[in-house]
Amino acid sequence: MSSSNRPRRRLPATVAALALAATALTAGLAPAARADGFDGARAMTWLERQCALGPRIPGTPGHAALQAQIVDHARSLGLAVHHLPFSRPHPYEERTLALTNLVILAGRGSGPRLWVGAHYDSRPVCDRDPDPARRAQPLTGANDGASGTAVLLHLAELMAAEPPPRPVALVFFDGEDLGRAADLDGFCLGSRWLADHWNDFGAPLAGPPPQGLILLDLVGDRDLSIPQEGYSLALAGEWTRTVFERAASLGLPAFVQAPGPTVFDDHVPFLRRGLPAVDLIDFDYPAWHTAADVPAACSAASLEQVGALVWDLIRNPPE
Ligand SMILES: [Zn+2]
Repeated sequence: MSSSNRPRRRLPATVAALALAATALTAGLAPAARADGFDGARAMTWLERQCALGPRIPGTPGHAALQAQIVDHARSLGLAVHHLPFSRPHPYEERTLALTNLVILAGRGSGPRLWVGAHYDSRPVCDRDPDPARRAQPLTGANDGASGTAVLLHLAELMAAEPPPRPVALVFFDGEDLGRAADLDGFCLGSRWLADHWNDFGAPLAGPPPQGLILLDLVGDRDLSIPQEGYSLALAGEWTRTVFERAASLGLPAFVQAPGPTVFDDHVPFLRRGLPAVDLIDFDYPAWHTAADVPAACSAASLEQVGALVWDLIRNPPE
């Protein structure tokens, strides 16, 4: 994602300390899928597994391995999974770029589908690293890419154990993070494509418009604080407030009932098409697009707050 706004606020130390304490409590447990609640430690293992694959840049072995892991995971759980491949010119190189969004479907019954999305690709460069020698290195992308994807992978486990009352789609966006600084056109390639094609005849998401998209990006920061992102609030205010009111009712301290930065992210192409979409993002992350975006900068407790909110919305869909 990209923004002209600079990250600006920090969490109070007490909340950070609570998050650390919660991490310590769960760190020694052997993670396993369970249907009663979202397990941050389990999600954290999914985050670490992604980082262990190396960079997940489109066209690299790490990207192909993660794609296979997502598909195998869904199939092993008995959930339907769809590849949505497409190609387009590379934004900066004289070649065609092959990208693939992935969709996992779950849930019963009819009614508008809830979409929960995250990008699974990682950035080719650490272009904001304070050390110029590291700026050409690929990003590990623990928070930027792996965090949202980890929440989705654990939600798939929960939904397989306890099918939701309404249809749900987990959407894994490709090609989010290839853009160069200040060039919005190079970002969010997978979501732009899906916003144009989700309702194509025979496509897995075709049908009535979704109830809404919940986009997860940068949701793993140990020091997690998620305000109401600007585009979401301006263009899907009702949906945004619905999601944040649920967070408040669940007593999740990471969610701040106040406007935050405006961030160009994978929700924007859908907002432009009139679909409700909210970006749950903590853009106040000093390691953003640097070599310090590693698992140690993230925590199970943070993933658990985000996962608990989304799992509650899946189990108890808003009217
Ligand atoms: Zn990024």
